[in-house]
Amino acid sequence: MEARGVNTYTLEEAIDLFSGNVDVIIIVNNDKGRYYAVKRTGFFLDFIDEEGEYKELIETLWFHFNNTREKIIKDYQVFLPTFGKFKGKYSKKMKLLLEGEEQPRVVQITVYPVGDEKYLFLLDELDNSEYLREFMTESKVKTIQSTYLFSMYFDLVQNTTSSISITEISDEATHTSLSYTEWRMMIVNMFRKDDQKLFLERTHPDYLRKNFKPGDTSSFDCLMMNLEGVYIWVKLIFSRASTTNEDDFRFVFMVQNIHENIVELQNELKKYEELVSMDALTQLFNHGRMETEIMNALDYRKKQNGTVSAMILDIDFFKNVNDSYGHSVGDKTLKHFARILKDVAGENKVTTGRWGGEEFVIVCYDRDGDGIREKAEEICQTVREREFPVIGHLTCSIGTTQLLEEDDSQSVFDRMDRALYMAKSQGRNRVVML
Ligand code: GH3
Ligand code: MG
Ligand code: MG
Repeated sequence: MEARGVNTYTLEEAIDLFSGNVDVIIIVNNDKGRYYAVKRTGFFLDFIDEEGEYKELIETLWFHFNNTREKIIKDYQVFLPTFGKFKGKYSKKMKLLLEGEEQPRVVQITVYPVGDEKYLFLLDELDNSEYLREFMTESKVKTIQSTYLFSMYFDLVQNTTSSISITEISDEATHTSLSYTEWRMMIVNMFRKDDQKLFLERTHPDYLRKNFKPGDTSSFDCLMMNLEGVYIWVKLIFSRASTTNEDDFRFVFMVQNIHENIVELQNELKKYEELVSMDALTQLFNHGRMETEIMNALDYRKKQNGTVSAMILDIDFFKNVNDSYGHSVGDKTLKHFARILKDVAGENKVTTGRWGGEEFVIVCYDRDGDGIREKAEEICQTVREREFPVIGHLTCSIGTTQLLEEDDSQSVFDRMDRALYMAKSQGRNRVVML
């Protein structure tokens, strides 16, 4: 038998064809704005009414919090005209969490236009658990709808907007009654507070006229509320239509979902940021990071009149460890020493780093000279008393100082170094404050 496109079937034939295979069959009369369900089974019985307004159906199937049945339409009203017109086959998946159920249900929605302004909506619950699992983990279904969330034309001269229906098949514009200026003010609330100023600036007719030559495209990223009520990263793309008429200001506007890419990028950057800040052997902060920490501490001292102190620690006779037990035991000893520092210094208002070799630096916030000396004595004593693997006992010398108003990082290090040198020359295994 020759394969026939669904659009060549009569409505009755199409219903016949699908009734055994799907959970819901709905017929939509778009010109009358109504729908009626020919077939409903299972949970769909109380999810979709037997008949009603087409707009309601669209709201139910498109504008709901993903994972719930709750409708979220107030802020999205502005986009409603984009939906509900189909020129060819369209399909999407939706995820619903029903009350009292732990696993969301995934529903495949397929729309076939059948005749003038008439559509056949087929809904089928996907119960294949393997598919479901894949859907859960791979949170994004890579369809045009999820990449390009919305798009529209606007005309600055006429102050009009027209939605572009982003489906797999149609990019036709439907004219909406919203003026461009109204549209701006409606949509602005969907952006994160901090981004609203930027949005209003970049969408201002004067800005667009001034900054876009015909054919120019420009974009910026910001956080926008999604259908689940959470902010996601989107790219707002503006493109001025190519035209030879200088007075023609028509634009295409698109919202692209870039959330996953941005989050991935941020995680990646975070990893690198940590990597460049860490000392590979001890997993404490490295020299460069500790320099930054001292600069930040000086800022805190000056701008907020805060109290900050710092210390430098140097292991006594560490060369002997290497000479007697070898370099590898030396490395393990440094690691062990670093762990003790972390334990005793703690993490609250404290940053600990390896300055280089067997020297370490600690910055303590909200501790004055006496406070840091107390902490240094505690570290010195703990190191003295702890038994290190293989080598047994070890001591360290510590120079401490409180950051002063007139300090820069050089003067802080000079003072700490002098204090350390004094501790060494006074017999090591002690704390000196300057
Ligand atoms: P002092 O009490 O005067 O500080 O004596 P010291 O032996 O600790 O001082 P010195 O600066 O003479 O020697 C430091 C030694 O630390 C020399 C070097 O072999 C060792 N060292 C530096 N970095 C590392 C490292 O990453 N691993 C190992 N195993 N040893 C290191
Ligand atoms: Mg040294
Ligand atoms: Mg030393």
